[in-house]
Amino acid sequence: SATGVIKCRAAVAWEPSKPLVMEEIEVAPPQAHEIRIKIVATGVCHTDLYHLFEGKHKDGFPCVLGHEGAGIVESVGSEVTKFNPGDKVIPLFISQCGQCRFCKSPKTNLCEKGWYDVMSESDTRFTCKGKKVLQFMGTSTFSEYTVVNEIAVAKIHPSAPLDKVCLLGCGVATGYGAALNTAKVEPGSTCAVFGLGAVGLAAVMGCKNAGAKRIIAIDINPTKYEKAKVFGATEFVNPKDHNKPISQVLYEMTNGGVDFSLECVGSVAVMRSALESCVKGWGVSVLVGWTDMDDFAARPIQLIAGRTWKGSLFGGFKSKDGVPKLVNEYLEKKVKLDEFVTHNMTLAQVNDAIQLMKTGDCIRSVLSVALQ
Ligand code: NAD
Ligand code: ZN
Repeated sequence: SATGVIKCRAAVAWEPSKPLVMEEIEVAPPQAHEIRIKIVATGVCHTDLYHLFEGKHKDGFPCVLGHEGAGIVESVGSEVTKFNPGDKVIPLFISQCGQCRFCKSPKTNLCEKGWYDVMSESDTRFTCKGKKVLQFMGTSTFSEYTVVNEIAVAKIHPSAPLDKVCLLGCGVATGYGAALNTAKVEPGSTCAVFGLGAVGLAAVMGCKNAGAKRIIAIDINPTKYEKAKVFGATEFVNPKDHNKPISQVLYEMTNGGVDFSLECVGSVAVMRSALESCVKGWGVSVLVGWTDMDDFAARPIQLIAGRTWKGSLFGGFKSKDGVPKLVNEYLEKKVKLDEFVTHNMTLAQVNDAIQLMKTGDCIRSVLSVALQ
């Protein structure tokens, strides 16, 4: 069971828009229902950048970012029975308590105990230089150790390679599930995916695995098209190559609009384009990209004419149930993960990884945090 405070290295975000700083932090022992995890690997997701550079939560600092990690249980709290030291795990930013009305409904994965943003000061287990340091999205994987409630930890297959399956902690599960669970892409359909980062590429993979016939991949950065082909995209559109609205380009390409569209950028303008790219009558458009800075807008006729506009968090997967299954699907080669990883670095290089994502020169950078 749990021993004392652990001192370890973590990348601390002291304030918005500043580089992260490698610091020694203290990680408290897990409380009754908590698990202390040695993080082995973590991806860098655009949502980390959003909180650092764009989010309006200026009070969400200092914090340790990172929410796409995988690791090994170091110790467990006194009431934890389903985890043991040495178990391979993925921390989850969406919990699954199994008790609340949301967990009991098959219609959603939004457990009401979850953390989508930052934990409060009283909930964090981190301190640095005498100050409380917040846990971003309740996980904080840019740290050698973290503490997470057992309702937000998935135990995974013991042979899972942590430097790959970490991507199932956010980006890949999000995009893949958005296509399969939220859009419910149908065999033979025509799909459009806006934004070809890891989230969008995973959406492309979801469309492909659902049996879509045409998958139109859209990005303003044409270097992403080669990767999109690997995941199953059949056509590519660069909005910068056209001087008419992208929805009109897609309308002409598809004789009236696509069956399914997925916005994986995080821009309200692109969300509108994605909706307007859908065919009337039955087109479904899913918001996956994250922003809470602006309102979105569209003409009511878009929905009156039979289109559906929806969104999902974490691809609609109930997290504790879904993530171990996705890990198994990777081990069975039904889900690709290796192809998302364009850079392998160490936690100390996290600012370089952030820069690569800012400039669009990576899909996923995976940081090794500790040796297995
Ligand atoms: P990323 O930065 O790797 O990818 C974004 C891509 O969008 C880039 O390739 C960029 O070139 C492209 N893009 C930018 N503007 C565009 C435009 N106008 N038209 C077409 N493409 C454009 O980011 P990511 O990690 O893949 O994340 C994508 C989005 O998903 C972010 O907003 C992130 O916050 C969000 N996200 C949401 C959830 C969720 O649960 N809903 C989970 C994870 C991430
Ligand atoms: Zn993420």
